Amino acid sequence: MTKKPIPICGEHHIQKEWRTTTFEYSDEGISIRIPNVYAWVCPVNGEASFTSETVDELIVTARELIETAKRARERRSVLTEYIVSVGQPYPLESPA
Ligand SMILES: [Zn+2]
Repeated sequence: MTKKPIPICGEHHIQKEWRTTTFEYSDEGISIRIPNVYAWVCPVNGEASFTSETVDELIVTARELIETAKRARERRSVLTEYIVSVGQPYPLESPA
């Protein structure tokens, strides 16, 4: 695997940092937060650029979580928030 150059934030003209961030997404009143996701993060405003592999994984995961939340809403569940984890955050090596 060839290393790519470290991405630069187009707005702040500064190198981004490879670190964990929280992916957030909301759809039809359902909000999803996925913490401890490795991404290129702007040190100024925290804006994250996810790698394509991570984006694929985030889309699949978010879609599954939304389905779960929609089913809960249909049965008028009294539960409004869930926290699910699968082990420890995996220390992903920087692609650059
Ligand atoms: Zn920036």
